Amino acid sequence: MAKFVYGIDLGTTYSCIAYVDETGRAAVINNSEGTNTTPSVVNFASPTNVVVGQVAKDAKIIEPGQTVDFVKRLMGKSDFAISYNGRDISPQEVSSYILRKLTEDAAKLINEEVKDVVITCPAYFGTAERDATKKAGDIAGLNVLEVISEPVAAAIYYGYTREQSKKNILVYDLGGGTFDVTVMAVSSDVIEVICCEGDHELGGKDWDETVMRYIAGEFNSRTGYNDDIDESTQADLRLKVENAKKQLSGREETPVTLDVAGLRERIPISRATFDELTAALLNKTVDLTEKALTIARAKGVEIDEIILVGGSTRMPQVPRILKEKYGKEPRVLDPDEAVAQGAALYAVDVYINKQKSIFTWEENVKNGGGDAALPPVENAGAFKETLAGAVKTRKARKIIVTTTKSYALKVLVDNKDEKCNNLIIKNTRMDGDEINVTGHFGTQEANQETVELVVYESDDMNEYYDVDDDLIIGTAVLALPENLPSYAPIDVTFTLNKEGMLRVHGKDLTGNREITAEMHAKGIMTTEEVEEAKKHSSRIVVL
Ligand code: AMP
Repeated sequence: MAKFVYGIDLGTTYSCIAYVDETGRAAVINNSEGTNTTPSVVNFASPTNVVVGQVAKDAKIIEPGQTVDFVKRLMGKSDFAISYNGRDISPQEVSSYILRKLTEDAAKLINEEVKDVVITCPAYFGTAERDATKKAGDIAGLNVLEVISEPVAAAIYYGYTREQSKKNILVYDLGGGTFDVTVMAVSSDVIEVICCEGDHELGGKDWDETVMRYIAGEFNSRTGYNDDIDESTQADLRLKVENAKKQLSGREETPVTLDVAGLRERIPISRATFDELTAALLNKTVDLTEKALTIARAKGVEIDEIILVGGSTRMPQVPRILKEKYGKEPRVLDPDEAVAQGAALYAVDVYINKQKSIFTWEENVKNGGGDAALPPVENAGAFKETLAGAVKTRKARKIIVTTTKSYALKVLVDNKDEKCNNLIIKNTRMDGDEINVTGHFGTQEANQETVELVVYESDDMNEYYDVDDDLIIGTAVLALPENLPSYAPIDVTFTLNKEGMLRVHGKDLTGNREITAEMHAKGIMTTEEVEEAKKHSSRIVVL
């Protein structure tokens, strides 16, 4: 039977899964309700059943305490999403149920177990958030080939669907809970990310909340009702408002009906009012777009095209303002499906590359070279299956990304001020699989016994910035030989891989003592915690 690999867009509000079919074409796989996207909402219906999707979204009104939405906003930020059945459940585990819903539904349609996946995340996700995304896949029992950025996936889809010469594109991605803007140079075989900016607290949800406040205010002034609106009416209003917002993308006016405490009002809202109410939100996206363009220009890149991704770009205000500002008609790309399909196409590339390296390694070992005990990739055996149909002859494209965060070490400047010294700066080109930067430092005082390496992750792009301990992602302690003078040389190397994982290596050049540490950002789950969550998950049926 044919073997497929999959791409998953694990979205804030909706998620989507796609694969590359026998003809080499990316296609979205519908869920068991027959829709191409699935609301990213998880309802803990009973100790043995979890419901994901539209039914869970509807259940949020009746069981708000048992239902989680917008879990993506917690990924890598918190180790707690909900407490249910006497257990605290992590965002990773909640997300794993969304992944299980998508993959289990897809497996039924494709008639094959879904195993190898590429999952997407916003471009500005840092180490902890990317790790959380991968762990969600681990808990769901998937083999996560790679976690890639959503706009990169969108660009792959774009680059793949058209024959073209090299073009510089700006991907404006406004989803349900996040905003991401990325400048990329795209040709048919290379995709280079030039820079990205974003705000993960900005998305369709904020447009909804603005309108909710307006409707509630109108309701109060029309009816004289003054009390708070209870949680379940709020949830109901949220659904109605989201629906009205979508209606306003196609028509000039639509009503929202609100029932509170026996009072009922039908409140019309026009597109003009909607645009006026939400202008400040839209302007925030324009400012971030401007910022990305400024960075791109500094690197000598002018954009040729603007691409819109994400459900919220269907609001007419989005293409209108971009056209006004940049004089270019933005191109709309299957907003709901582009990311998952691009991820699926990329999954094929990753799979083929892994397969190639295994075959080369086997060949080497057979000819007496290489180390038989050290296969080049994990689960080597699993990569031997031949992919379905035409895809196996396709040339894998190259992706050049930039760093999505800055990484700094705490240092003492001029022997007095503690500062964060960025060794790796956000938006730096990463040509290979990883980037290495070494800083040369010295011990502070004579006979120092240890050096504490304190590592920070931030969006700050300056060489030095003020210490902010909220930004610490890890520490490592380097033991020193005895009797060192002050200023004894210490080298610290940061190695960041394409997936945003950081390795820190400290070395004292006098005694050659070394320490290497993987940075465990706050909220990173340990292997034991993943295993524990997996155990729970395996006892739960996802509906
Ligand atoms: P995404 O995370 O990309 O799936 O985006 C989902 C967001 O897009 C949600 O906030 C939706 O309310 C919003 N959305 C979907 N369709 C429309 C539409 N026709 N008009 C306005 N917003 C929409």
